[in-house]
Amino acid sequence: MRQVLSYADRFWAQLPSAHKLITIILTLAVLGFIFIGGHNNSKQLELPKIAATQLENIDTHESDDWQESNNELFVPEDYYYTIGKGDTLSQIFDMLRIPQATMYEILESDLAVLALDTIKPGDNLRFWMNPDTHELSKLELEFSRAHIVTYQRAAGGFEYSETILPGVWQQEVVAGSVKGSFYQSAQKVGLNANEIMSISALFKDKMNFNKGFRRGDTFEVIRSRQTIDGYETGDSRIEAIRINSQKRELTAFLYKDSYYDKNGTGMERAFSRIPLKTKARISSNFNPTRRHPITRLIRPHNGTDFAVGVGTPVYSTGDGVVEEVVKNPYAGLYIKIKHGQKYKTRYLHLSKSLVHKGQAVTRGQKIALSGNSGRSTGAHLHYELHVNNRPVNAMGDNVPIMTEIEGNERKAFKAQVAQQMDKMSHLKLALLTSSKKN
Ligand SMILES: [Zn+2]
Repeated sequence: MRQVLSYADRFWAQLPSAHKLITIILTLAVLGFIFIGGHNNSKQLELPKIAATQLENIDTHESDDWQESNNELFVPEDYYYTIGKGDTLSQIFDMLRIPQATMYEILESDLAVLALDTIKPGDNLRFWMNPDTHELSKLELEFSRAHIVTYQRAAGGFEYSETILPGVWQQEVVAGSVKGSFYQSAQKVGLNANEIMSISALFKDKMNFNKGFRRGDTFEVIRSRQTIDGYETGDSRIEAIRINSQKRELTAFLYKDSYYDKNGTGMERAFSRIPLKTKARISSNFNPTRRHPITRLIRPHNGTDFAVGVGTPVYSTGDGVVEEVVKNPYAGLYIKIKHGQKYKTRYLHLSKSLVHKGQAVTRGQKIALSGNSGRSTGAHLHYELHVNNRPVNAMGDNVPIMTEIEGNERKAFKAQVAQQMDKMSHLKLALLTSSKKN
């Protein structure tokens, strides 16, 4: 194992803990002062809400068997940090004595992926330092072992790359009956907020999830969780649902990344191609291999730009749930919407958001006003479509259309539905029997 603690870190390690505490408090006080002082700027850069204050979270690398066995060129990181509640990226960089200018270089390369905005407590950061210059040479953001974003130093800045592994999905059935709200009842059997929101969004044309349920209505859900090498990654998806509410049965089955009812009719409505209702010139096309004209760094353009004046209404291109409303120094104010299991859209450089995180939206709903926020060379709307977490050209052939399962697919779909219905019925029966015994 390589020992890479800097002199300052060794000095730190030798300090008694009371001294450390005082130093942390002083550091935070100074940081707070600097931060408040910076507020007078007319165009203040909003930092992503990320993590890092507790120094005990910082670890020099623990060698990782999984990585070492899988990669002969494996070089252990110099610093390893698990994000805690209330941490900010800025604080983490300060703590590691990495200049803020370097952080902005990272954020600049992050513009095409916007991964740093989604950091949450428990995610991990790994830092590699150049042993000669002591500059940051590589940063890795690990959401899970299945999803890693890497920022690698190149001449003139950083370039990002993203690793998304499929992992192994393990199914389980959960079932319950409604007491109080559907939300509470679903939570009680172990479904999380995201899963419950996805379910209600899927049936929103058919059922009012706030008022539509009666005590004693039942539901069964097949949920699968992703694992990599036996470790849960925290990602899950709904495979099948059946709700019995006052003699009505609602069903949904995930088949090839889209949801269908038990008869094979698609449940997700088609998307609009563009998020505007006025005609607008495309000022920049989707281009995953774009390079910066001067630095030659890879700066993918993962969306389509529409030249529209500030204040132009922006519409959601599909039905979905608002996943994020964020301010970013480069992307400006932006909205991210999740549409079912497979699709996501993003709307950047806005002047105003008309929706909030967690809100269900429908296709054609006005969600924002366009703008010129963040680093932008003029008023425009930047629009992205992601399929299975990868950006695609929304002006190409990727726009989803409503489908019906037909022909050869029908047999496979029917078999899956029968098998999943059977699983759900078994658990429901078991629950009914056990509740009668009690
Ligand atoms: Zn753009």
